Order: sequence, then structure tokens, then C-alpha cells
Amino acid sequence: MRQKILILGGTQEALATAARLVEDGHNVITSLAGRTQQPPTVGGQIRIGGFGGIKGLADYLSKNQIDILIDATHPFAEQISLNAIEAAKQANIPLQNLDRPEWRKSPGDRWIAVSSIDEAIEEIPENARVFLALGSQHIHSFAHRSDVYFAVRMVDPPSEPLPFKQHSLVLGKPGADPQSEINILKEHQISHLICRNSGGAVSFNKVVAARLLSLPVIMIQRPTK
Ligand code: NAP
Repeated sequence: MRQKILILGGTQEALATAARLVEDGHNVITSLAGRTQQPPTVGGQIRIGGFGGIKGLADYLSKNQIDILIDATHPFAEQISLNAIEAAKQANIPLQNLDRPEWRKSPGDRWIAVSSIDEAIEEIPENARVFLALGSQHIHSFAHRSDVYFAVRMVDPPSEPLPFKQHSLVLGKPGADPQSEINILKEHQISHLICRNSGGAVSFNKVVAARLLSLPVIMIQRPTK
């Protein structure tokens, strides 16, 4: 039966799910927070921007007669997932979670597991050269480490200058293979990678690159959603 489905997106998995469901004949709307300047091409319809909390999302689901809500957001996007649980209850529709498995350590990996950004900062040795692959909203927390050189990867150029004493900007999406990530790590003479255990194939390339270069990875564990 043809269903009207709202996908909470912002990930590659959300795009793949939308494409598959459209192909299966469903009426699919993908919702994006609007954090990146260039929205991706999505199968079905797209809507952009917050809903206004739980009530806003619940109202949207009811008004638009959504049959199924799919949470395909990033594992570190905690608020929207909490909102989805409550809003689906209020709208009395099923919620499906599309959580991607977290990365597992392999032989050769030198991971330092931490549970927060603050712990990650504490683990950076003095005068390290760090590749920072985190959402732009988190990078300001590292600013007081003036002893550290940061290579910061961002999808879009920052709206204001970055707050670091020593840094360079690596603009663009994650590299499509480990070799392109190796090239970046080498170019910036990186000694440590900091990232979150977000799972997923493309963003894993930097972790493989660190393994191949025998670099330590300060790995922020994911929250329980
Ligand atoms: P968040 O903290 O969980 O959400 C903050 C607020 O942003 C939500 O309360 C909601 O606003 C709005 N929002 C989030 N995702 C939305 C969506 N798919 N559609 C409409 N509104 C959305 O989320 P975040 O960590 O800022 O991440 C924002 C988006 O970027 C997510 O969709 C996520 O999939 C994607 N993303 C996040 C990360 C990450 O590291 N966190 C990485 C890659 C992609 P209202 O309360 O007004 O509805």
C-alpha cells in the first residue's frame, strides 16, 4: 500500500532510503535541518528547517497525514531523535529508526576512546597537530588550545574567522577513499585525528587513513539514542 513517509534526514543513509522508498511507489518527504548551504538531490520531496520542537513536529505529522516517521538522522544529532520519539507518540504513528552501526576497532588502530568533546581536548598532547573532523558547532571548544595546530575540515566556508591561533581550513566533504585522506593528513603533518564514532562508510576513510599512517585517533563515543 502506498504510504506517506517523512524521513528525518541529513545523512547518506537517509538519501538512499528515500530513493528506495520512492522507487517502491511511496510518497516520501525528506526533512533537512538546513545546516549546509547546498542541499543534496533527494528522491521525492524535500522540506528544510526545524519544526519548532516536539509540538511542531507532531503538528506537521498530523496536518500532513504522515503514515510513518523514519529517523535517519546522524547518530550524534540527539535532540531531533528525542523529538521524533515524542512527536510520533503524539501523532500516533509508527517511528522507525535507521541507526547505522558504530565503527569497530581493527588491528593497527590506535584509538583513544573518550566520551565527550571536553575529554577529547584533555587527551591532546602539547604542541600536537590535530585533524579536526567534527560538526562546525563543536570546534569553538578547542580554541583555548593555542599550543595546538588544527586542520579543520568543514563542508562550507565558516561564516566568521575560526578562533584558533594556528590552523588551516580543509574545505569540502570527506575524501572518497583512504588515499585521499592520507594525502590530507600528510600535507598537514597531522599527529592526531579527532572524530566521533558516527559509523558510515565514507567518513570511515579518515579512520582507515590514520590506521595506515599509524596515527592515534581520539574517538568520541556516540551517545545512546
Ligand atoms: P540536533 O541537535 O539533534 O537538532 C537540533 C534541532 O535542529 C532540532 O531540534 C530541530 O529543530 C532541527 N533539526 C535537526 N535535524 C532536523 C531535520 N532532519 N529536519 C528538520 N529539523 C531538524 O541536530 P544537529 O546535531 O544540529 O544536526 C542537524 C542535522 O544535521 C541532523 O538532521 C543530522 O542528521 C545532520 N547531521 C548532523 C551531524 C552531527 O554531527 N550532529 C553530522 C552530520 C549530519 P526543531 O526543534 O525546531 O524541529
